[in-house]
Amino acid sequence: MTKVLKNYVGGAWIASDSAATTPVVNPATCETLAQVPEGTRSDVDKAVAAAKAAFNDWRSTPVMSRAQYMYRLKTLLEEHFEEFAKMVVEENGKTRDEARGEVRRGIENVDYATHVPSLIRGYKLEDVSSGIDETAERQPLGVFAAITPFNFPFMVPLWFLPMAITTGNTFVVKPSPQTPISMDLLFHVLEELDLPEGVVNLVHGGKEASMAVMEHPDVRGVSFVGSTPVAKIVYETCAKHGKRVQAQGGAKNYIAVMPDANMAASVANIMGSAFGGAGQRCLAGSVVVAVGDAYEPLKAELIKRASGLRVGYGLEETSQMGTVISGAARARIEKMIADGLTEGAQIALDGRGVKVDGFEQGSFVGPTILDGVEPDMNIAREEVFGPVLSIMRVPDFDAAVEVINRSHYGNAASIFTSSGKFAREFKYRVQAGNIGINVGVAAATASFPFGGQKDSFFGDLHGQGPDSIDFFTDRKIVIERWL
Ligand code: NAD
Repeated sequence: MTKVLKNYVGGAWIASDSAATTPVVNPATCETLAQVPEGTRSDVDKAVAAAKAAFNDWRSTPVMSRAQYMYRLKTLLEEHFEEFAKMVVEENGKTRDEARGEVRRGIENVDYATHVPSLIRGYKLEDVSSGIDETAERQPLGVFAAITPFNFPFMVPLWFLPMAITTGNTFVVKPSPQTPISMDLLFHVLEELDLPEGVVNLVHGGKEASMAVMEHPDVRGVSFVGSTPVAKIVYETCAKHGKRVQAQGGAKNYIAVMPDANMAASVANIMGSAFGGAGQRCLAGSVVVAVGDAYEPLKAELIKRASGLRVGYGLEETSQMGTVISGAARARIEKMIADGLTEGAQIALDGRGVKVDGFEQGSFVGPTILDGVEPDMNIAREEVFGPVLSIMRVPDFDAAVEVINRSHYGNAASIFTSSGKFAREFKYRVQAGNIGINVGVAAATASFPFGGQKDSFFGDLHGQGPDSIDFFTDRKIVIERWL
C-alpha cells in the first residue's frame, strides 16, 4: 500500500476525514507515488479553524520577525532544491531542467517576501485640515487560501503563501490532487521553521475541498490558479460569499513573427514557448502568426527544430520534453489534434502515438505542428494545454494584431521582430496581460504582478509583486487631531 498523504493542520499531520483516496501517478512510469485523500468540508473546517486561531498572535508578531522566517525558508529550500525538482518531475512529468526552473521561480517569491517590512508600509499626510493628520495603515485581514493547478505544483502555491503570511495573515493551501506531493514536501520543510501552529495549513482534495474553502465564512480571500471554467466558478462563488478573490485562468497565447525577425534565434525561443513543459504552461505559445514573407522560413525552421526534440522521461538528463499529466490528458490532446484536422488544418508534424523506449505506457505526446490554421477554428481559439503549435498566416502586422485580439483569452502574446516600431505598436495594442518582445515566455518575475486579461483573469489584483501587498492587506485610514 502506498503512502496516504496527510493534511497539515495547526502544526500537526492529521489524516483526512475521508477514507476515499485517488492515486497520484507518475505519468511517465505509471508508478503510483502516493494516495491523495478526497478531502472533505470538515477537513477544510479544521484547517480554517487552526488558521483563524493563529491569526491574532501572528499579526502582532513583529514584521521583521515574520520576514526572518523567509530567510530561513530560503536556506532550507536551497538545501532541498534537487529533492523538490525531482519530485516535480515525478509527479508532473516535465524535464528535470524545467523542474529546476520551476523551483527557482518559487524560491524567488520567498526572496521577495523578505522585503515585506519595506513593502508593507503605509503613508501619511500632515495637516489635511488645521491640526489634523491622516494616515493609511496596512493591516492583514485574517485567513487566506490558495487553490492551485497541476502544472506548477511547487511554484504556484509560492506565488501566494510567502506574501500572505509575511503580511500577517494565516494561510491554507489546497493543491491539485493530480500533483499534491510537492506541497507535502514543502510543508515538511515549513515544519522545520517552527512557525507558530496554524500559520500555514495544507488540505488535500478536489472540488469538495475547493468549494468548502470558497464558501467558508472565515476565509477572507482566495487566490486561484487553474482553468478558465473553474476560475469563473471561483470568482462567482467567492464574490457571493463576500471574499477577496484573484482567479487566474487558462490561456491561448499567440506569437507574431515578422519577416524582419532573426528567424533562427526566434524559432529557438518559440520551441521553448510551445513545447516547454509539454505545452502545459499558461504562458505556452500555442499559435504562431506568420506575417507575410515570414511564413516559409518560419514553417521550415519550426518543423526542423521540433522534429529533433528528444521526448523522454524527465529524470533522464537527455530528455528535452517530458510527458503530459495523464493518459486522459493525452487522449484529450490527441482528440483536439484530430478535430483540428477535421476543421481543415493540415498536419505538418504529428506527435500522436509517440512511444518512448522503456516507458511504453507513459503519457507522451510528441511535438505537433498544425499548418493552415484559421482564426475561427476551435484549435485556434481554445486552450490545448499540450505540445501542439498551430501556424496561422496573415498578410501584415495589422492583421496579426486583429487575430490576436479576437481571442477571448488574454494571458500572453509575443512578437519576434527587429523593428522597434512594430514592437511598440504590439505592446500598445495587443490585449494580453504579459507581452514578450523577442521573448516567447513572458513570465513576470516575483517583484512584478502576474496575471492576464479577458477570460484569463478574474479579479482586480494580480498575484506577485506590489499587487500581492494590496491583496493581502487592507488600507485602514486614521484621521487624528490632538487637542
Ligand atoms: P483545474 O482548473 O482543473 O484545477 C485547478 C484547481 O481547481 C485544482 O486544485 C482543482 O482541484 C480545483 N478544481 C477543479 N475543478 C474544480 C471545480 N469544479 N470546482 C472547484 N475547484 C475545482 O486546472 P488544472 O488542470 O489543474 O491546471 C491547468 C490550467 O491552469 C490550465 O488551464 C492553465 O492555463 C491554467 N493555469 C493558469 C495560470 C495563470 O497564471 N493564469 C498558471 C498555471 C496554470
